[in-house]
Amino acid sequence: MAVEKKEFQTEVSQILNIVIHSLYSNKEIFLRELISNASDAIDKAAYEGLTDSKIYEGGTDWKIKIAADPEAKTITISDNGIGMTRDEMIKSLGTIAHSGTKEFLKQLQEANKADGNISNLIGQFGVGFYSAFMVADHVSVISRKRGTAVDSATRWESDAQSSYTVEEASKEAAGTEITLHLTDENENLLKDWELRRIVGTYSDYISYPIVMDSQKAIMDSEGKETGEKETVEETLNSMKALWLKDKAEVSAEEQEQFYKHITHDYEPATATIQFKVEGSMEFAALLFIPAHAPFNLFHADATFGPMLYVKRVQIMEHCEELVPQYLRFLTGVVESGDLPLNISREILQNNRHMSVMQKNIVRKTLDALADMQRDEPEKYGKFFKEFGKVLKEGIHYDHERRETIAKLALFESTATKAGDTTTLDDYISRMKAEQKDIYYITGASRRELENSPYLETLKEKELEVLFMTDEVDDIIFGGLHQYKEHTFKSVMKGDLELDKDVAEAKAKDYEVLLKQMKEALGDKVESIRLTTRLKSSPACLVVGANALDPQMERMMRAMGQMMPPSKRILEINPDHALIVAMNKELGDDAKLKEYAGLIYDQALLLEGEKIEDPAGFVQKISAIMARV
Ligand code: ADP
Repeated sequence: MAVEKKEFQTEVSQILNIVIHSLYSNKEIFLRELISNASDAIDKAAYEGLTDSKIYEGGTDWKIKIAADPEAKTITISDNGIGMTRDEMIKSLGTIAHSGTKEFLKQLQEANKADGNISNLIGQFGVGFYSAFMVADHVSVISRKRGTAVDSATRWESDAQSSYTVEEASKEAAGTEITLHLTDENENLLKDWELRRIVGTYSDYISYPIVMDSQKAIMDSEGKETGEKETVEETLNSMKALWLKDKAEVSAEEQEQFYKHITHDYEPATATIQFKVEGSMEFAALLFIPAHAPFNLFHADATFGPMLYVKRVQIMEHCEELVPQYLRFLTGVVESGDLPLNISREILQNNRHMSVMQKNIVRKTLDALADMQRDEPEKYGKFFKEFGKVLKEGIHYDHERRETIAKLALFESTATKAGDTTTLDDYISRMKAEQKDIYYITGASRRELENSPYLETLKEKELEVLFMTDEVDDIIFGGLHQYKEHTFKSVMKGDLELDKDVAEAKAKDYEVLLKQMKEALGDKVESIRLTTRLKSSPACLVVGANALDPQMERMMRAMGQMMPPSKRILEINPDHALIVAMNKELGDDAKLKEYAGLIYDQALLLEGEKIEDPAGFVQKISAIMARV
């Protein structure tokens, strides 16, 4: 068949365009990307061969080979991994399958426009192969899938201008060979020592040998150079599986390089957790918490979890069974000595080893977070900003550890400066002598909450209130109910039981007014009562102690959930001049009705709700103002 020309998918062209023209300075990572792909391809062959003997034909002497040709100005990277069929090549090297590609492109384009620094985005989405075009203006790939005939290979070529070609080819050894024709300014990469350095820096722990032919002087029997040279195959990487070593033997630098290698992250991880469990059950883990949340942290179809290795073979790229959902930001490697190599997902889900491993991982991770919170509060604050929302899910789902996780939560409060945070333990340490409950208020932002009328009395009494600004907070902390014997109390819900006796003493005086107002408002409110919550506002709306939080209700409605608004309790402030005056002077039905309606509307506005008839509201207020 002749050479066939094909267009790149638009997204690929766009990515290529940015990759080629950005100011990205760290171009040498192209080699890490290609070696990583080669290593993945060998992992796949090693794994598939376990159940399909055809795959192992042609040998299992797994190897990645690098060769530089200074005359042709090419670098060739070859592997004897799984290889690709023609269709796979078209799909893998001409399109981008990731569901988040569009989003990624947008971020990439923005970062590129801002300062040309796309480094921390590259790789996250698998631009891996395309990074070859950072150093080369022509790339050719020849690949043959293991288990297929010698003449069924495919050659793929492109100079990155919107198109590529594919044609039939023949290849003796199964696997993939990628040849880069370097651009002039990248000729330094042709030097052996440069390649050795790059491999040493980024790919040392690749578990297959990365080899390069080099010329060695031949010595005579007395150890003198003969002037002749021989070609020897030199292995460039140490192949140490970092995660299997003892923690004490691994340097922070090695951990960081390894992290960057597996995640393509440009920034170092926030925390590294390495441990081994030995005894009746054996496994090793090297885990990381990234500095930044991935773009798809809240995508329902995204897969998370560390890699799972069994006896040095990668069994799964993301093993979700290893970590609970609320720790899904963990990446890294876990290797088990006890699982069978051909384990299936179904077996994993009910495997005792898996649950023991998960338990250990959870414990070690929560310990590491607690240490960070204690010893490096600033760093911990950054972590919590990125992943706090995910971590808090654990308070809801992990009953056994709900208090341990709640301890890790950070909040702003009426006692912190904007941007600063506090913990539940610190809150408790500041509680007033007679205070029993932990007060909180929910809403979209600190700014919105700071001046809320619901805080008036609490502020006056110097009772601290936590600002809960995540939509899920009310469900999580309301659901947790108690922390160290202290009950969570939303200042927007139920009875706060502040100055109970004062309220009771006044109840009699206001009996008639309360009744009249309820009649005037009818079904709009569940009931009307006096409040001690307020100081300078006349009224507010609250929900029952067990009702859905108003903020949550608004969010659910915004998400399209059909739900009747929960009935509110109107609370009026018996010390407010308006209420006092109404109690004294309003006998007249029409006026009372009008005022009750206006007070209700005001309370709605204070709560952040819309009022039913804004035009009517404005007219009435204006008319009252005109009486002056
Ligand atoms: P990613 O590796 O993140 O998926 P890449 O652009 O680096 O993204 O590679 C795209 C796909 O091309 C890979 O997922 C793999 O299927 C295929 N591929 C790349 N290099 C090789 C190789 N050396 N051997 C076999 N398949 C490869």
